[in-house]
Amino acid sequence: MVATPIGNREDLSPRAQAVLAEADVIACEDTRHSRPLLAAFGIAGELLSYHEHNEDQVAPRLLRRLRAGETIALISDAGTPLISDPGFLLVRAAREEGVRVEPIPGPCAAICALSAAGLPSDRFLFVGFPPRTRPQRLVWCQGFAKEPGTLICYESARRAAATLSDLAEGLGSERRAVVARELTKRFETFLMGRIAELAEQVAASPEHQLGEMVIMIEGDPRVDDERDRAEQARVLGILAAELP
Ligand code: SAM
Repeated sequence: MVATPIGNREDLSPRAQAVLAEADVIACEDTRHSRPLLAAFGIAGELLSYHEHNEDQVAPRLLRRLRAGETIALISDAGTPLISDPGFLLVRAAREEGVRVEPIPGPCAAICALSAAGLPSDRFLFVGFPPRTRPQRLVWCQGFAKEPGTLICYESARRAAATLSDLAEGLGSERRAVVARELTKRFETFLMGRIAELAEQVAASPEHQLGEMVIMIEGDPRVDDERDRAEQARVLGILAAELP
């Protein structure tokens, strides 16, 4: 499982380069997308297309090759395979067969964004891509409205204004949020503010509706307050029972 750059080619680690150069086959989402990256590092191995629409058919073929002793490097179009990208079926099947699966760590947009966002990072929940329609997005928000950790989701920049506005409605417009766009690329931008403000800012700026984006929202601050109050009441109850 080889992580590849999310924008800046210099983020392909020396270890990733070595593993890709030595693999018998490189499984990638789109060969047209990955070939130029590999070519830039002088890697000219066999490429095989493995994506969400052919995962069911290709995974058994890859497993046969693994059983035969070949080494397969799995990459995605960008970042870490399996993180909102294909590969889970293959990894699970390989592990069930006792095949060694090794991660070659590197860029991941969610972690990259969180590391520079200035939101609490001790606890977070990655929720992938929001649904595409407003009613579905509002229902989706309810699934983690009380999550105390920082929420992280992926979104295409052109849907960002609508998504941020629904997140403001579903989670509360006053929560702090950060939008990280075009990470590791020339026009990398971080916007910080309350969700509703960010929704307006993005809606008003065509530039913020271009490229790739990670949205992060602080967790529900009330959850910790409620837990603290419940814990205080519990401790007071114990103390009260001990007091003369
Ligand atoms: N596996 C990838 C990873 O490890 O980050 C994510 C793949 S997912 C299909 C693609 C989404 O990741 C984009 O729509 C965007 O939300 C986010 N993303 C990828 N590259 C990004 C970048 N350079 N800047 C901001 N977000 C990015």
